[in-house]
Amino acid sequence: TTRQLIVSEKLAAIGEITAGVAHEINNPVAVIQGNLEVIRDELGEGAKPWKTEFTLIQEQIQNVNILVSKLLEFARPEEYAGTVEGYNPDDAVRDSVPLVHHLLTKGDIEIVLNLSSQQTVSMNRTELQQVLVNLFVNAIQAMEDGGVLTVASRDMPRGEAPGVLIEVTDTGVGMQDTVLKRVFDPFYTTKRSEGTGLGLSISRKLIARVGGDITAESTPGKGTTFLIWLPAQGRP
Ligand code: ADP
Repeated sequence: TTRQLIVSEKLAAIGEITAGVAHEINNPVAVIQGNLEVIRDELGEGAKPWKTEFTLIQEQIQNVNILVSKLLEFARPEEYAGTVEGYNPDDAVRDSVPLVHHLLTKGDIEIVLNLSSQQTVSMNRTELQQVLVNLFVNAIQAMEDGGVLTVASRDMPRGEAPGVLIEVTDTGVGMQDTVLKRVFDPFYTTKRSEGTGLGLSISRKLIARVGGDITAESTPGKGTTFLIWLPAQGRP
């Protein structure tokens, strides 16, 4: 429809601008980082009194770098298309959990795995793990007072097509419908300066590219479930 066309043109335009801006940010940041290292090397032992300051600047540079690479990935996903390999998605889930362990120290959060997929999927494994880690981080952030993060998987065909359903459920704050409707929109975030609003929109792009989809269900005050469906790898 015309509306869909306008929306996709707008997204393409946003992509162009985003890629341009990201590149423009990259260069000055590289100069800042390089010169910071020069100063620290020159100072040698004398840099010690400013250890905290150097670390802070370095951390913030790192944050900008991460943001820029997220922006670029959002704007130019084709350039980031990874290789296609077959594997059991449960392995990707198991490998993703340790990547968020450092976030579990604060709250009282339990992780429960309920994995029973027999299928093989062909989505790039690093990208699937990136999607899962994104969902885990969001879930953990939604459970500031603790809770349970459950990841479940099972084989689930769609019509003739064999596939896998992965459910990521938290018992966190949940979302109002007005938020739920927008979570996959690029740059939509309720986290102010802490959020980029890109995690879920990138996730959706990556999953759609392999013919899958991602949806969300949520109840305010109860929690949220993200559902990923991936097609099984075609037999060679
Ligand atoms: P970001 O995390 O940077 O804000 P995302 O695209 O990952 O970007 O998420 C967009 C928004 O969706 C979040 O700001 C938050 O409002 C909402 N959201 C995502 N996951 C959850 C969750 N598990 N529970 C509650 N709200 C969530």
